[in-house]
Amino acid sequence: MSHPAPSAAPLPVTAVPVTLTLTLTLTLALALALALVVPWTVLPGADLRPDPLRDFSPEQIAREVAFHDALRPSSYGTLALGLVVAAVLGLTRSGARVVTAAARPLGGGWKAQVVAGVLVLGLLGRLAVVPLAIRSETVLRDYGLSTQTWASWASDVTKGLLVDAGLTALVLLTVVALARRAPRSWWAWASLATAGLVVAGSFAYPLVVEPVFNDFRPLERGALRDDLLALAARDGVPVDDVLVADASRRTTALNAYVSGFGGSRRIVVYDTLLASAPADEVELVVAHELGHAEEQDVLTGTLLGALGAATGVCAIALVLSWQPLLRRAGARGMADPRVVPLVLLLVTAGTLATAPATNVVSRRLEARADLHSLDLTRDVAAFSASQRRLAERNLSDLEPHPLAYALFATHPSVTERLALAREWERLQ
Ligand SMILES: [Zn+2]
Repeated sequence: MSHPAPSAAPLPVTAVPVTLTLTLTLTLALALALALVVPWTVLPGADLRPDPLRDFSPEQIAREVAFHDALRPSSYGTLALGLVVAAVLGLTRSGARVVTAAARPLGGGWKAQVVAGVLVLGLLGRLAVVPLAIRSETVLRDYGLSTQTWASWASDVTKGLLVDAGLTALVLLTVVALARRAPRSWWAWASLATAGLVVAGSFAYPLVVEPVFNDFRPLERGALRDDLLALAARDGVPVDDVLVADASRRTTALNAYVSGFGGSRRIVVYDTLLASAPADEVELVVAHELGHAEEQDVLTGTLLGALGAATGVCAIALVLSWQPLLRRAGARGMADPRVVPLVLLLVTAGTLATAPATNVVSRRLEARADLHSLDLTRDVAAFSASQRRLAERNLSDLEPHPLAYALFATHPSVTERLALAREWERLQ
């Protein structure tokens, strides 16, 4: 008696060793790249133990601690609830039903299922954490950090949802299309394609995504602009312009950043920083960003991210070869758009699990940029003044809890940065 052939299995059993081998190979390549590219020791011989009371008054520390105590429940709650919602949608058939139902008005084809599914699943995830997001925004207002009305806040949340859903749908459309074309080897092509999309996305981000949230204008002609361009020239970093973001429409916090690479690279300072910090402190902040530009940190981060994404795709293919999990999610494999909720769960869990490692790498790159700003300006006083101003205005966490530090800290704490400056001076 013959049985009907099993319906399109996601990954033939014989291919599992190949996927496993590639996952392990890519993981090793990533580990090797991290070992070689990341500046693990930024200032040899330095004692970087932070000491908040050296630079901040007990009142300042108390205010910052109260702020973080108020904010922490919603930060952790958002992470936990996001994971629970993703797990419910990804590990039961409810997510698959959402995908099918969302696509029905659009004809129900696989592309509609991916796009409408991603959008509705994202909306459900966002709605679940809205009360916590409102709580966070209220705390930011209580402490004078937010300048938004609820209307502009809601507009930001909506834009964020649409941008996230758009980018996620683009990646998943590509991966599902590859799985439908190449049922046996899709994961290899999808790894390559996802890595390519990470690189293209990072390049296009400042041109396509950042303008959705902020307006940018070139820094006005004048002494400050001349100083900053002269600083860049002295540093040997080609910079045509420094852009100013209208961050004050959202926040009172002070910041600057560099994004993009090659032709899309830009150095951006917040208008809040220009309005409140003296020129020598703005110069220090820009010198830090020049450090990122000179070391090509955005490109480095992008390439590491691309390698990480390729590894993630292989790992997901491996997990999806486990039939009981697929049955539980009500999907047949990567070629079946009903798999989207399960894939989103794996991405959410994977991102959370790797956040501590990603943040360790980011903090090393940030410390190197700090050191660059000290080497370039040789102005420890302005460095320390700018760090104290940033900490006071942004209510920076001066002694972060180890868990918060591991999960959220992309930068060394302000007290670590001040310790770095003192040690830089001592070791001169
Ligand atoms: Zn930085």
